[in-house]
Amino acid sequence: MDGLMQPRPLTIAHILERAERLYAHKPVAVAGTERVTYADVARHTRRLATVLDRLHVPVGARVATFASNNRRHLELYLAVPVTKRVLHTINIRLASEHLEYIVNHAEDDVVFVDRGLLPRIWPSADRMPRVRHWVVLPDDSDTPIPADPRILHYDELLAGAEPFAGSFEDTFTLADEQLASGLCYTSGTTGRPKGVLYSHRSTVLHCLGALAAGFIGLGESDVVMPIVPFFHANAWGLPYGAMMAGASLVLPGPSAKPAHLLRLMESERVTVAGAVPTVWTSMADELSAYDLSATRFLLGGGSAVPPALSETYRTAVGIPITHSWGMTEVSPVGTIGGTRTQHRAATEDEQVAVRAAQGQPLPLVNVRVVDVGTGRELPRDGHTVGELQVSGPWVASGYFQVGEDDSFTDDGWLRTGDLATIDSDGYLRLVDRIKDLIKSGGEWISSVELEAAIASHPDVVEVAVIARPDPRWTERPVAYVVLRDGSAGTAEDLLRHIRPMVAKWWLPDDIVFMTALPKTGTGKLSKSSLRESLHIS
Ligand code: ADP
Repeated sequence: MDGLMQPRPLTIAHILERAERLYAHKPVAVAGTERVTYADVARHTRRLATVLDRLHVPVGARVATFASNNRRHLELYLAVPVTKRVLHTINIRLASEHLEYIVNHAEDDVVFVDRGLLPRIWPSADRMPRVRHWVVLPDDSDTPIPADPRILHYDELLAGAEPFAGSFEDTFTLADEQLASGLCYTSGTTGRPKGVLYSHRSTVLHCLGALAAGFIGLGESDVVMPIVPFFHANAWGLPYGAMMAGASLVLPGPSAKPAHLLRLMESERVTVAGAVPTVWTSMADELSAYDLSATRFLLGGGSAVPPALSETYRTAVGIPITHSWGMTEVSPVGTIGGTRTQHRAATEDEQVAVRAAQGQPLPLVNVRVVDVGTGRELPRDGHTVGELQVSGPWVASGYFQVGEDDSFTDDGWLRTGDLATIDSDGYLRLVDRIKDLIKSGGEWISSVELEAAIASHPDVVEVAVIARPDPRWTERPVAYVVLRDGSAGTAEDLLRHIRPMVAKWWLPDDIVFMTALPKTGTGKLSKSSLRESLHIS
């Protein structure tokens, strides 16, 4: 027997119209230079909706953005999906080859691009023949705009448009909640980038999951700052989540300079911010110069948050970085770390260890670890390591225009390519990516654990451990380290520091000092670029 509840669709249109109705007065502060309200954003969104019609962008077509976290980008975040087009947020740091591949693969119809970012994408325009229009979003830059009939101007288009006056929500049927709302490509660190196609339903459920009390628990009184770029898996759902909760938004704009981010956090009294660990690291040295007393939740994910980094924040700001595991394919948030009531009696050190875990799955998400060879599920005992698999209503079931893909199991779970343990409380601990694990003499060494040990040395700013081929042991670990300016630290100092923390045979064969480490387009340390530069395959 069916229940007798209203079969209403879950849509981003509801997020927009709820913010418009309930939170019209709440501010969106941009880069310290612009301050608007959700009413302003909604007004522009309604004009943008008719602009897309006038440009004859078909329903279901991909509308790309190549932009920083700014107000116009937020309007695109809303107008594109609520008019049943698909928002394709492009990583602005991609090399032109990847960029062209992605835009052509997505068959983007229109590209909206920040004026200051034109030089990064316009030279490729002729190799993206399906893009009919290039719409320039004004910013502080005076970058020359090419004289080309394909180029249009955002503010001019909006100024000449009638606003859509009806309810976007009413245009959706129950079946429409499955319509694609967003498209995000994985960064392609392994093989070709693959497109993850979010739906309205998955996006709304992901927002609710991340909003839920006990997890991020976003509320109306929060001031949310997505430092993580909009193109990195929808800024982890933070913009939609903030609007749904009625929280204020702070958008950093094009600059990722630590002083700029910290100044914004201080002046806007930010309560919740999210960024990858390399960004938290870049800000760590300057924390004491700012008043961050309003902050209540710092979210870190995308790669392992070294416990020493989290402790730096706990000491300076009063709260640790809450660790989250996720993937583009998981919308992206899958688990959230931190201590629970059962850890109250634990010692400081034990609590640090709990916080280092990637944590418990969000509601509606299931995780399991399986034997890599047989695919059999492994015990949740906190020490048996296996491949992490994940399922849930905001987890991908396939890739955009790829067909069959061995990333999915026969019973429909996603193979993550990560190795992990799960303990009896359901806490997930990432051991490593399968491809980053170091095989030494038939045993495995976790690059992540070695990195955490090395990063706990006070002079270490960044570290990446990778495998070097070795005739005797197959592979041996080598650490690439960036030291704090002016540090006189030596390899022997670092080895002495980590000796008590890891097995003797885990000690790196070599510690190489670098001035900087390569990063991926989303700002994470890029071991594949490091390997490439060292000619290690
Ligand atoms: P890419 O694989 O291209 O970097 P994603 O941003 O989707 O793209 O990265 C997902 C991967 O990032 C995960 O499979 C995992 O290896 C890593 N990751 C994400 N969050 C964490 C975390 N908290 N700790 C360790 N690794 C993480």
